[in-house]
Amino acid sequence: MKKINRRSFNAKLTQGLAGTALISNMVMANTKNNKQDRKLGIALVGLGSYSTYQLAPALQDTKHCYLAGIVTGTPEKEAIWAKKYGIPKTNIYNYSNFDAIKDNNDIDIVYVVLPNSMHAEFSIRAARAGKHVICEKPMAMNVTECDEIIDACKKAGVKLGMGYRLHSEPYTQEVKRYVKEKTFGDILYVSADASYRSTGNPEQWRLNKELSGGGALVNMGVYAFQSAIYATGENPIAVSAQEFSTRPDYFKATDETITAQFKFKSGAVANMTTSHNFGGNRLHAVGTEGWFELEPANNYGPLHGNSSKGEFNFPHESQQKLQMDDFASHILFNTPNLAPGEMGKRDMIIIEAIYNSIANKGSEVILDLPANYGFGD
Ligand code: NAD
Repeated sequence: MKKINRRSFNAKLTQGLAGTALISNMVMANTKNNKQDRKLGIALVGLGSYSTYQLAPALQDTKHCYLAGIVTGTPEKEAIWAKKYGIPKTNIYNYSNFDAIKDNNDIDIVYVVLPNSMHAEFSIRAARAGKHVICEKPMAMNVTECDEIIDACKKAGVKLGMGYRLHSEPYTQEVKRYVKEKTFGDILYVSADASYRSTGNPEQWRLNKELSGGGALVNMGVYAFQSAIYATGENPIAVSAQEFSTRPDYFKATDETITAQFKFKSGAVANMTTSHNFGGNRLHAVGTEGWFELEPANNYGPLHGNSSKGEFNFPHESQQKLQMDDFASHILFNTPNLAPGEMGKRDMIIIEAIYNSIANKGSEVILDLPANYGFGD
């Protein structure tokens, strides 16, 4: 066998690397002419607090998409947004003329950021207009509507993603890695809280069941049981739940506080609390070889990680920026869809099971979900 000394090895390595770099530059140049340079145009539907303070600012920093249009039911917002973000008149729609967006080549993605009862209608209209769809959480009012959104997107051949920003941020991805690599052994127990205290206008849509579909559970609870799912790496097989009400005059129509216990096929168990009456923002997981936790776990960040092996922290970036870039990159470069429509549907199945258990005095409801149904690619 020919012996290779360190110098000739290094020379070969350099030649090899230079060759690789050349090829990869050529590939990049080719791709650049096609998609690399292209940013997808996003139209935000619903210019409330989340669009105004999180999504639109994040879209000023995104690499693969930009704020191209708006859809609003409030005429006064048109001029304000047009001026602030340089949006041409031709890319501004209202709820009635929205379907004409199908003829607008500037818009690739429609992002539905409306009250929950309007998610299905606008996601389906967007899909029928041939636009890719991002739908905010919770996906819809019930599982039937989730199916209708998924079917409309399939039929139109467009991509569907959920506004689940945490799947794109590094702490959540680190938790998923711990589970995959069994960094803390087999996960035996998860405790998850996602809550805040609501004291605002009692007439707000979040407290109106016709518009919200539910209270703390649909608004914040999704973060709690989702974290139990990614901290165990599997969907639950059964759930029991309880509801608590201490301010019935304020929470007239929607749930104030819900606790739920989940069983997983592996034998793991999880406990979650969600509330509109008190704050809570934590994920704690215990494995056969230690523990890890995030606190805060589900706000806009910076999050913070700790574990039996030490703290873990990542530089903070806008979660919304990461999420929208991930979805645009999924469309442009076929990278994984980290929060597909099926994840929204899976969560609605779990939400319905929790309400079902509460309606039946906390009795156990069996969940017939495939172990990883709705997981991102
Ligand atoms: P918001 O109340 O601030 O805004 C709602 C928007 O919908 C407003 O522009 C309002 O004019 C419009 N609207 C149209 N019809 C309406 C009606 N009948 N009643 C009330 N408003 C109506 O709400 P938001 O906080 O921006 O939430 C919008 C969506 O985004 C919700 O689905 C919510 O769950 C979701 N959201 C997600 C996150 C996240 O972190 N992923 C955070 C906040 C909100």
